Amino acid sequence: MILIDGKKLAQEMRVEIKSGVEKFKLERQRDIGLAVVLVGENPASQVYVRNKIKACEEVGIKSYAEYLPADSTEECVVELVKRLADDKNIDGILVQLPLPKHLDADRILKLVPTEKDVDGFSEENTGKLCMGKDCLVACTPNGVMKMLERYGVETRGKKAVIVGRSNIVGKPMAMLLLNADATVTVCHSKTANLKEECLRADILVSAIGKAKFITADMVKEGATVIDVGMNRDENGKLCGDVDFEAVKDKCAYITPVPGGVGPMTITMLMYNTLQAASRR
Ligand code: NAP
Repeated sequence: MILIDGKKLAQEMRVEIKSGVEKFKLERQRDIGLAVVLVGENPASQVYVRNKIKACEEVGIKSYAEYLPADSTEECVVELVKRLADDKNIDGILVQLPLPKHLDADRILKLVPTEKDVDGFSEENTGKLCMGKDCLVACTPNGVMKMLERYGVETRGKKAVIVGRSNIVGKPMAMLLLNADATVTVCHSKTANLKEECLRADILVSAIGKAKFITADMVKEGATVIDVGMNRDENGKLCGDVDFEAVKDKCAYITPVPGGVGPMTITMLMYNTLQAASRR
Protein backbone atom coordinates (compact mmCIF):
# COMPACT_ATOMS: atom_id res chain seq x y z
CA MET A 1 0.00 0.00 0.00
CA ILE A 2 1.24 3.48 -0.86
CA LEU A 3 0.00 6.37 1.23
CA ILE A 4 -0.80 9.44 -0.85
CA ASP A 5 0.71 12.20 1.24
CA GLY A 6 -1.44 15.27 0.55
CA LYS A 7 0.43 17.42 3.03
CA LYS A 8 3.78 16.80 1.35
CA LEU A 9 2.36 17.19 -2.15
CA ALA A 10 0.59 20.42 -1.20
CA GLN A 11 3.88 21.77 0.15
CA GLU A 12 5.72 20.83 -3.04
CA MET A 13 3.03 22.48 -5.13
CA ARG A 14 3.15 25.66 -3.05
CA VAL A 15 6.88 25.95 -3.82
CA GLU A 16 6.11 25.60 -7.53
CA ILE A 17 3.24 28.10 -7.33
CA LYS A 18 5.46 30.56 -5.45
CA SER A 19 8.02 30.49 -8.25
CA GLY A 20 5.20 30.87 -10.80
CA VAL A 21 3.97 33.93 -8.90
CA GLU A 22 7.48 35.43 -8.79
CA LYS A 23 7.89 34.89 -12.53
CA PHE A 24 4.49 36.50 -13.18
CA LYS A 25 5.40 39.55 -11.09
CA LEU A 26 8.71 40.01 -12.92
CA GLU A 27 7.14 39.68 -16.36
CA ARG A 28 3.99 41.70 -15.75
CA GLN A 29 5.35 44.12 -13.15
CA ARG A 30 2.33 43.76 -10.91
CA ASP A 31 1.02 41.75 -7.98
CA ILE A 32 -1.50 38.94 -8.16
CA GLY A 33 -4.58 39.72 -6.05
CA LEU A 34 -7.09 37.41 -4.39
CA ALA A 35 -10.13 38.92 -2.67
CA VAL A 36 -11.79 36.86 0.03
CA VAL A 37 -15.27 37.99 1.05
CA LEU A 38 -16.54 36.88 4.44
CA VAL A 39 -19.98 37.93 5.64
CA GLY A 40 -20.64 37.30 9.30
CA GLU A 41 -18.74 35.48 12.04
CA ASN A 42 -19.22 31.78 11.29
CA PRO A 43 -16.27 30.29 13.26
CA ALA A 44 -15.48 27.57 10.68
CA SER A 45 -15.55 30.15 7.87
CA GLN A 46 -13.24 32.42 9.86
CA VAL A 47 -10.71 29.57 10.16
CA TYR A 48 -10.97 28.79 6.42
CA VAL A 49 -10.50 32.45 5.50
CA ARG A 50 -7.51 32.79 7.83
CA ASN A 51 -5.91 29.71 6.25
CA LYS A 52 -6.51 31.05 2.75
CA ILE A 53 -4.89 34.37 3.65
CA LYS A 54 -1.93 32.52 5.20
CA ALA A 55 -1.54 30.44 2.03
CA CYS A 56 -1.55 33.65 -0.05
CA GLU A 57 1.30 35.04 2.07
CA GLU A 58 3.23 31.80 1.63
CA VAL A 59 3.11 31.89 -2.18
CA GLY A 60 3.40 35.68 -2.60
CA ILE A 61 -0.20 36.41 -3.65
CA LYS A 62 -1.63 39.66 -2.30
CA SER A 63 -4.81 38.98 -0.36
CA TYR A 64 -7.66 41.41 0.13
CA ALA A 65 -9.78 40.32 3.09
CA GLU A 66 -13.21 41.90 2.88
CA TYR A 67 -15.15 41.38 6.09
CA LEU A 68 -18.78 42.42 6.32
CA PRO A 69 -21.08 42.15 9.37
CA ALA A 70 -23.63 39.31 9.50
CA ASP A 71 -26.56 41.74 9.17
CA SER A 72 -25.23 43.37 5.97
CA THR A 73 -27.91 44.09 3.40
CA GLU A 74 -27.84 42.20 0.12
CA GLU A 75 -27.20 45.47 -1.74
CA CYS A 76 -24.12 46.09 0.38
CA VAL A 77 -22.65 42.65 -0.49
CA VAL A 78 -23.65 43.10 -4.15
CA GLU A 79 -21.88 46.47 -4.31
CA LEU A 80 -18.72 44.98 -2.80
CA VAL A 81 -18.60 42.03 -5.22
CA LYS A 82 -19.29 44.35 -8.17
CA ARG A 83 -16.45 46.62 -7.09
CA LEU A 84 -14.07 43.64 -6.83
CA ALA A 85 -15.25 42.38 -10.22
CA ASP A 86 -14.21 45.70 -11.79
CA ASP A 87 -10.96 46.08 -9.84
CA LYS A 88 -7.95 45.51 -12.11
CA ASN A 89 -5.75 44.54 -9.15
CA ILE A 90 -8.00 41.60 -8.28
CA ASP A 91 -7.45 38.37 -10.23
CA GLY A 92 -9.62 36.08 -8.12
CA ILE A 93 -12.72 36.54 -5.98
CA LEU A 94 -13.81 34.05 -3.40
CA VAL A 95 -17.09 34.44 -1.55
CA GLN A 96 -16.85 32.29 1.56
CA LEU A 97 -19.88 30.04 1.92
CA PRO A 98 -22.28 29.63 3.60
CA LEU A 99 -23.62 33.18 3.40
CA PRO A 100 -26.12 34.32 6.05
CA LYS A 101 -29.59 33.03 5.23
CA HIS A 102 -31.15 36.42 4.40
CA LEU A 103 -28.76 36.81 1.44
CA ASP A 104 -29.41 35.37 -2.02
CA ALA A 105 -26.18 33.38 -2.46
CA ASP A 106 -27.00 32.50 -6.05
CA ARG A 107 -27.43 36.16 -7.05
CA ILE A 108 -24.20 37.17 -5.29
CA LEU A 109 -22.10 34.31 -6.74
CA LYS A 110 -23.32 35.15 -10.25
CA LEU A 111 -21.65 38.57 -9.93
CA VAL A 112 -18.21 36.96 -9.81
CA PRO A 113 -16.87 37.13 -13.38
CA THR A 114 -16.05 33.70 -14.86
CA GLU A 115 -12.39 34.65 -15.25
CA LYS A 116 -12.15 35.59 -11.54
CA ASP A 117 -14.14 32.57 -10.28
CA VAL A 118 -11.19 30.85 -8.57
CA ASP A 119 -13.54 28.47 -6.72
CA GLY A 120 -14.67 27.16 -10.12
CA PHE A 121 -18.30 27.05 -8.92
CA SER A 122 -19.88 29.25 -11.59
CA GLU A 123 -22.27 27.89 -14.19
CA GLU A 124 -19.85 28.95 -16.93
CA ASN A 125 -16.83 27.18 -15.46
CA THR A 126 -18.92 24.11 -14.58
CA GLY A 127 -20.31 24.02 -18.13
CA LYS A 128 -16.86 24.33 -19.65
CA LEU A 129 -15.62 21.50 -17.45
CA CYS A 130 -18.48 19.30 -18.71
CA MET A 131 -17.51 20.14 -22.27
CA GLY A 132 -13.85 19.36 -21.62
CA LYS A 133 -12.83 22.99 -22.22
CA ASP A 134 -10.11 24.92 -20.46
CA CYS A 135 -11.56 26.53 -17.29
CA LEU A 136 -11.08 27.20 -13.60
CA VAL A 137 -11.86 23.90 -11.86
CA ALA A 138 -13.31 23.41 -8.36
CA CYS A 139 -10.35 23.13 -5.97
CA THR A 140 -11.08 19.89 -4.11
CA PRO A 141 -11.65 17.60 -7.11
CA ASN A 142 -8.83 19.30 -9.01
CA GLY A 143 -6.58 18.57 -6.02
CA VAL A 144 -7.56 14.91 -6.23
CA MET A 145 -6.55 14.84 -9.91
CA LYS A 146 -3.15 16.33 -9.02
CA MET A 147 -2.71 13.59 -6.40
CA LEU A 148 -3.49 10.87 -8.93
CA GLU A 149 -1.16 12.44 -11.51
CA ARG A 150 1.76 12.95 -9.13
CA TYR A 151 1.53 9.41 -7.78
CA GLY A 152 1.26 7.98 -11.29
CA VAL A 153 -2.19 6.44 -10.79
CA GLU A 154 -3.47 5.52 -14.26
CA THR A 155 -6.98 6.75 -15.03
CA ARG A 156 -7.30 5.83 -18.72
CA GLY A 157 -9.58 2.85 -19.16
CA LYS A 158 -9.98 2.45 -15.41
CA LYS A 159 -13.28 2.11 -13.63
CA ALA A 160 -13.81 5.08 -11.31
CA VAL A 161 -16.63 5.15 -8.78
CA ILE A 162 -17.50 8.36 -6.98
CA VAL A 163 -19.77 8.28 -3.96
CA GLY A 164 -21.42 11.70 -3.60
CA ARG A 165 -22.92 13.98 -6.25
CA SER A 166 -22.58 17.49 -4.82
CA ASN A 167 -21.93 20.38 -7.18
CA ILE A 168 -18.67 21.22 -5.45
CA VAL A 169 -17.11 17.76 -5.17
CA GLY A 170 -18.89 14.72 -6.62
CA LYS A 171 -20.05 16.10 -9.98
CA PRO A 172 -16.87 17.98 -10.97
CA MET A 173 -14.86 14.94 -9.79
CA ALA A 174 -16.87 12.76 -12.16
CA MET A 175 -16.24 15.16 -15.06
CA LEU A 176 -12.52 15.36 -14.38
CA LEU A 177 -12.16 11.58 -14.27
CA LEU A 178 -14.27 11.23 -17.40
CA ASN A 179 -12.08 13.83 -19.15
CA ALA A 180 -9.08 11.75 -18.01
CA ASP A 181 -10.53 8.72 -19.84
CA ALA A 182 -11.84 6.78 -16.85
CA THR A 183 -15.18 4.98 -17.03
CA VAL A 184 -17.16 6.75 -14.37
CA THR A 185 -20.05 5.78 -12.10
CA VAL A 186 -21.55 8.31 -9.71
CA CYS A 187 -23.30 6.95 -6.61
CA HIS A 188 -25.49 8.76 -4.08
CA SER A 189 -27.93 8.12 -1.27
CA LYS A 190 -30.50 6.49 -3.61
CA THR A 191 -28.03 4.14 -5.31
CA ALA A 192 -29.47 0.61 -5.20
CA ASN A 193 -26.39 -1.56 -4.71
CA LEU A 194 -23.72 0.72 -3.35
CA LYS A 195 -21.44 -2.07 -2.14
CA GLU A 196 -21.48 -3.81 -5.55
CA GLU A 197 -20.80 -0.52 -7.34
CA CYS A 198 -17.89 0.29 -5.04
CA LEU A 199 -16.42 -3.20 -5.40
CA ARG A 200 -16.04 -2.60 -9.15
CA ALA A 201 -13.88 0.49 -8.64
CA ASP A 202 -10.24 0.68 -9.63
CA ILE A 203 -10.42 4.23 -8.29
CA LEU A 204 -12.91 4.85 -5.49
CA VAL A 205 -13.56 8.46 -4.43
CA SER A 206 -15.71 9.02 -1.39
CA ALA A 207 -17.30 12.45 -0.83
CA ILE A 208 -20.23 11.68 1.44
CA GLY A 209 -19.63 13.22 4.86
CA LYS A 210 -20.20 10.11 7.00
CA ALA A 211 -17.49 8.85 9.34
CA LYS A 212 -15.97 5.46 8.38
CA PHE A 213 -18.83 4.70 5.98
CA ILE A 214 -16.67 2.91 3.39
CA THR A 215 -15.72 -0.43 4.92
CA ALA A 216 -13.23 -3.08 3.79
CA ASP A 217 -15.92 -5.25 2.18
CA MET A 218 -16.72 -2.38 -0.23
CA VAL A 219 -13.19 -2.08 -1.61
CA LYS A 220 -11.61 -4.18 -4.36
CA GLU A 221 -8.15 -5.62 -3.75
CA GLY A 222 -5.56 -3.27 -5.32
CA ALA A 223 -7.91 -0.28 -5.65
CA THR A 224 -6.93 3.36 -5.22
CA VAL A 225 -9.06 4.96 -2.51
CA ILE A 226 -9.45 8.73 -2.24
CA ASP A 227 -11.18 10.00 0.87
CA VAL A 228 -12.62 13.50 0.53
CA GLY A 229 -14.76 13.28 3.67
CA MET A 230 -14.05 15.42 6.72
CA ASN A 231 -15.93 14.12 9.73
CA ARG A 232 -15.58 13.60 13.47
CA ASP A 233 -15.52 10.09 14.89
CA GLU A 234 -17.16 8.98 18.14
CA ASN A 235 -14.23 10.50 20.09
CA GLY A 236 -14.42 13.82 18.27
CA LYS A 237 -11.29 13.03 16.24
CA LEU A 238 -11.09 14.18 12.62
CA CYS A 239 -11.68 11.27 10.23
CA GLY A 240 -12.73 10.59 6.67
CA ASP A 241 -15.55 8.63 5.04
CA VAL A 242 -13.30 5.60 4.78
CA ASP A 243 -12.58 3.15 7.60
CA PHE A 244 -8.88 3.72 6.99
CA GLU A 245 -7.39 1.06 9.28
CA ALA A 246 -9.61 -1.69 7.88
CA VAL A 247 -9.31 -0.63 4.24
CA LYS A 248 -5.67 0.38 3.88
CA ASP A 249 -4.16 -3.10 3.43
CA LYS A 250 -6.44 -3.85 0.48
CA CYS A 251 -5.40 -0.74 -1.44
CA ALA A 252 -2.66 0.02 -3.91
CA TYR A 253 -2.95 3.71 -2.94
CA ILE A 254 -4.95 5.46 -0.24
CA THR A 255 -5.27 9.00 1.13
CA PRO A 256 -5.35 9.54 4.90
CA VAL A 257 -7.57 11.99 6.81
CA PRO A 258 -6.14 14.31 8.00
CA GLY A 259 -3.19 14.88 5.68
CA GLY A 260 -4.80 13.75 2.41
CA VAL A 261 -7.21 15.69 0.23
CA GLY A 262 -7.69 18.53 2.76
CA PRO A 263 -4.27 20.21 2.41
CA MET A 264 -4.56 20.09 -1.38
CA THR A 265 -7.75 22.17 -1.51
CA ILE A 266 -6.31 25.54 -0.44
CA THR A 267 -3.20 24.87 -2.51
CA MET A 268 -5.43 24.46 -5.57
CA LEU A 269 -7.03 27.80 -4.75
CA MET A 270 -3.57 29.37 -5.00
CA TYR A 271 -3.02 27.44 -8.23
CA ASN A 272 -6.32 28.72 -9.65
CA THR A 273 -5.50 32.30 -8.67
CA LEU A 274 -2.17 32.11 -10.51
CA GLN A 275 -3.99 30.60 -13.50
CA ALA A 276 -6.63 33.35 -13.44
CA ALA A 277 -3.95 36.05 -13.30
CA SER A 278 -1.92 34.48 -16.10
CA ARG A 279 -4.95 34.40 -18.40
CA ARG A 280 -5.84 38.06 -17.92
P1 NAP B 1 -22.87 17.11 0.41
O1 NAP B 1 -23.22 18.30 -0.42
O2 NAP B 1 -23.55 16.91 1.71
O3 NAP B 1 -23.05 15.80 -0.48
C1 NAP B 1 -22.95 14.52 0.07
C2 NAP B 1 -23.25 13.50 -0.98
O4 NAP B 1 -23.13 12.22 -0.39
C3 NAP B 1 -24.64 13.62 -1.58
O5 NAP B 1 -24.60 13.49 -2.97
C4 NAP B 1 -25.39 12.45 -0.94
O6 NAP B 1 -26.36 11.85 -1.79
C5 NAP B 1 -24.26 11.45 -0.73
N1 NAP B 1 -24.62 10.54 0.35
C6 NAP B 1 -25.03 10.84 1.60
N2 NAP B 1 -25.30 9.72 2.30
C7 NAP B 1 -25.06 8.69 1.47
C8 NAP B 1 -25.16 7.28 1.59
N3 NAP B 1 -25.58 6.71 2.72
N4 NAP B 1 -24.85 6.52 0.54
C9 NAP B 1 -24.43 7.07 -0.62
N5 NAP B 1 -24.31 8.40 -0.81
C10 NAP B 1 -24.62 9.20 0.23
O7 NAP B 1 -21.32 17.11 0.77
P2 NAP B 1 -20.02 17.69 0.00
O8 NAP B 1 -20.00 19.17 0.13
O9 NAP B 1 -19.87 17.07 -1.34
O10 NAP B 1 -18.89 17.11 0.95
C11 NAP B 1 -18.74 15.72 1.17
C12 NAP B 1 -17.70 15.50 2.25
O11 NAP B 1 -16.46 16.03 1.80
C13 NAP B 1 -17.97 16.20 3.58
O12 NAP B 1 -17.45 15.40 4.62
C14 NAP B 1 -17.17 17.48 3.48
O13 NAP B 1 -16.79 17.98 4.74
C15 NAP B 1 -15.97 16.99 2.71
N6 NAP B 1 -15.26 18.03 1.97
C16 NAP B 1 -13.92 18.05 2.12
C17 NAP B 1 -13.19 18.98 1.41
C18 NAP B 1 -11.71 18.98 1.59
O14 NAP B 1 -11.06 19.94 1.25
N7 NAP B 1 -11.14 17.89 2.09
C19 NAP B 1 -13.82 19.88 0.56
C20 NAP B 1 -15.20 19.80 0.38
C21 NAP B 1 -15.92 18.85 1.10
P3 NAP B 1 -27.72 12.63 -2.25
O15 NAP B 1 -27.27 13.57 -3.33
O16 NAP B 1 -28.58 11.55 -2.76
O17 NAP B 1 -28.23 13.33 -1.04
